[in-house]
Amino acid sequence: MKWPTNGSLTSSARLKRRVDVWAVKLRVMPKTVRVQRMTHKWGSCSSTGTITLAIDLDGESADFQDFVVVHELLHLKVPNHGRLFKALMTANVPKWRQQDIYRRKQIRPT
Ligand SMILES: [Zn+2]
Repeated sequence: MKWPTNGSLTSSARLKRRVDVWAVKLRVMPKTVRVQRMTHKWGSCSSTGTITLAIDLDGESADFQDFVVVHELLHLKVPNHGRLFKALMTANVPKWRQQDIYRRKQIRPT
């Protein structure tokens, strides 16, 4: 087997592996996981169960990656950011509020 030499391939594979690990832990099953260039956000979850992650999330800290991955996966259970959503975030990523502050400070290139 040839190891991919394209950096974006390995970033994508690494992010998808993180999604797989968390999906098992959270007992959710995303229909499709996409990793692509996103300029305005780090991730999204569609109502049809597709999780999309920004490819450059791979360059961020593991804690921040977990924060984004868990956030999007939890939307498969809870479609809003209400009390239940926040409680599940705290249960799985106890320091998520710190990461949320970091996220708000990011200026995404356009
Ligand atoms: Zn959200």
